Amino acid sequence: MAGTLFTKIINREIPADIVYEDELSLAFRDINPQAPVHLLIIPKQEIPTINDIELNDRELVGHLFLVAKKLATEMGFAEDGYRVVMNCNESAGQTVFHIHLHLLAGKTLGWPPYTDRAKV
Ligand code: AMP
Repeated sequence: MAGTLFTKIINREIPADIVYEDELSLAFRDINPQAPVHLLIIPKQEIPTINDIELNDRELVGHLFLVAKKLATEMGFAEDGYRVVMNCNESAGQTVFHIHLHLLAGKTLGWPPYTDRAKV
């Protein structure tokens, strides 16, 4: 698989503001933050979309949520509240085809979370 720019971040081929790493995952600050805290939590394994997640990946996907909880706790906003989001494919706005949890915090987040976009 050719990989996306997230593979280049994992391999340190392009810079990122990395806040956490373990053997399975990496977390870094989103380059275009939508909240005071906007992190991306990614598996090191290349999985393009939610549709590509297999049964064997369930521990890995669960791990991403545990990393989200750990970072929320350590960064001090777990009790206040935060949101995790994973977009799947074009209509949801996925632009990087390597699954990632968005972790958003640091302000009162609106609901519903979206604004409709024109189909292009
Ligand atoms: P999505 O639209 O759900 O696929 O999310 C992709 C996210 O990656 C967007 O929020 C982008 O701002 C973010 N992004 C794109 N390039 C970079 C980069 N080089 N470093 C950090 N975040 C990035």
